Amino acid sequence: MKILLADDDAVSRILLQRTLERGGFKVLCVEDGHAAAAALLADDGPRMAILDWEMPLQDGPSVCREVRAAGSSAYLILLTSREAVEDIVTGFDAGADDYLIHPCNPDELKARIRVGTRSLQLQASLMHEAQHDPLTGLPNRACFVKRLAHNVRRAREHPGYNFALLFVDIDRFKVINDSLGHLIGDELMKSIAQRLLQAVRFESPPPGHSAPRDLVARIGGDEFVILLENCAGLDNGVDAGVRVAQRIQTVLKQAFFLENHEVFVTASIGISTGSDATDASEVLRSADAAMYKAKRLGKARFEVNDTPPGAPTVNRLQLENDIRRGVENEEFEAFYQPIVSLDDRCIVGFEALVRWRHPQHGLLQPDHFLEIAEDSGLIVPIGAQVTRQACRWMRRWNDSLISPRPLTICINVSPRQFAEDDLVERVQRVLSETGIDPAFLELEITENLTMQDADRAASLLDQINRLGVSISLDDFGTGYSSLNYLLRFPLRTLKVDRSFIYDIENSRERATIVETIISLGHNLGMRVVAEGIENASQMDLLRSLDCDSGQGYFFSHPVPANEAEQLLQRRPIGLIEALHPESQPRPALLMAS
Ligand code: C2E
Ligand code: CA
Ligand code: CA
Repeated sequence: MKILLADDDAVSRILLQRTLERGGFKVLCVEDGHAAAAALLADDGPRMAILDWEMPLQDGPSVCREVRAAGSSAYLILLTSREAVEDIVTGFDAGADDYLIHPCNPDELKARIRVGTRSLQLQASLMHEAQHDPLTGLPNRACFVKRLAHNVRRAREHPGYNFALLFVDIDRFKVINDSLGHLIGDELMKSIAQRLLQAVRFESPPPGHSAPRDLVARIGGDEFVILLENCAGLDNGVDAGVRVAQRIQTVLKQAFFLENHEVFVTASIGISTGSDATDASEVLRSADAAMYKAKRLGKARFEVNDTPPGAPTVNRLQLENDIRRGVENEEFEAFYQPIVSLDDRCIVGFEALVRWRHPQHGLLQPDHFLEIAEDSGLIVPIGAQVTRQACRWMRRWNDSLISPRPLTICINVSPRQFAEDDLVERVQRVLSETGIDPAFLELEITENLTMQDADRAASLLDQINRLGVSISLDDFGTGYSSLNYLLRFPLRTLKVDRSFIYDIENSRERATIVETIISLGHNLGMRVVAEGIENASQMDLLRSLDCDSGQGYFFSHPVPANEAEQLLQRRPIGLIEALHPESQPRPALLMAS
């Protein structure tokens, strides 16, 4: 069998050619799009082709369009370098049959080719394999984009035809996966898939033969899409979309029982309707944008994207590129929130909290960008910038003796940062670059991050500890940790999550829990910090419970470095009004008792 291989990159071409030839194919190589189109349109041309996306003279999708327009039924596989949904949809729209992400491994390549050769003879089982997600058995991304493109065409050709698309993203799936392990994560994914199937519309009788009418597909790690075809009504399918979204929330509400764990999940759902869309990627982008909005507004909810087609939408990919640019331009800045001793109300340190000074959108809080920074790995360079800035300021404050006692700087370390191989070297580098005394640097980690591989965590934390840097356990009480873990790790500080502090002055129960946590921390030799103190009664109560220090809007919002410096100068903090550029209404004055 003859295969056309069109790729202008010599190295990639030779590697692919070798794999194909070993698989018994005769390979015809060309280096540009014109030559590819000509070969495919020749009388005795190849019936199958692998086309690089970017080529001189004519790109891959345009070759697909040209040969399809000329009536060719050759099996066309596009080679793309990034797994962007838009690209893949564009490829299918242009007439491609499949796609490969470059660089691809030989097995993957052979599997795709095999599907191609058989699909010419319509081999049902292989088709199934190529179109389904092996874990959940649901249709996969390739299958879904084809159906979506078909629906867009249908809507274009038949005014009045409606369909809706739901983009479903499981909230905090990574946390579950990291803390309970991948095997349980996989089981959970399968159960979620089953529940999603329960939430969709079914074909009407004959009874006993009902099959789902809507397409439920898994298109990424924790991302599902649901395509509601042929929606009746005058509302473009919004109503159908909303009803299915509500049913999804209901079916996900019940606990999942996995081995010995009881797990609860929620989903953020974006709905878009396709009747006015001109291409599939537009529908997908708009559902994705609505899902992202649902996340931003607090997760566990759905949003309908009713932006008119063509209007700019928040696109995760766009945002990721924007963050990348922001990193290059050093737009990320540490803000500082004081940590205050509850005994004498002096500032004992600061927590560095990242902000993004966006050239167009102004000052952005972490909830706008942290999740994407974490998913894309960009949190690593962002964290490096924040840490360097914070350590420099800290050194300056400590050297100038502006504060009566040495200050500690606390830096957040996310799961992704913790997973980096060179974490210890990074910490070492910061110490030597900024000259900060390691005794005044504290890294904040969360319980979940230590659970996945406790041995590795223990060893890393020990190494960091040996540099003289301390570790604090952040958001305590919200994760899945057990006392065993606490005992294994060299922890100096326990930070009680602010959900326990909220309304503590009115809840005996909460006060008892916090009291227990504080004495637990003290018994294990740790200092205890209460987060989220918002008023004087909370502060007084925590002090009476023997909590060492506190942090919260009552003392000060996170502020830029120069304002943090002013907080230090106007000692004691109890007598001045805290500075608070970040939010309205203004936080309470700290009252001297
Ligand atoms: P976190 O580590 O739990 O940080 C405390 C969060 O609580 C901050 O939100 C802070 O502004 C907020 N907060 C402080 N006092 C109060 C209060 O009295 N009431 C209430 N309701 N909230 C209060 P922020 O700055 O939006 O940061 C959110 C999260 O983003 C942080 O939670 C942390 O997990 C993460 N984060 C922030 N900066 C960085 C960073 O530089 N690197 C990494 N890896 N993560 C960061
Ligand atoms: Ca923190
Ligand atoms: Ca915290």
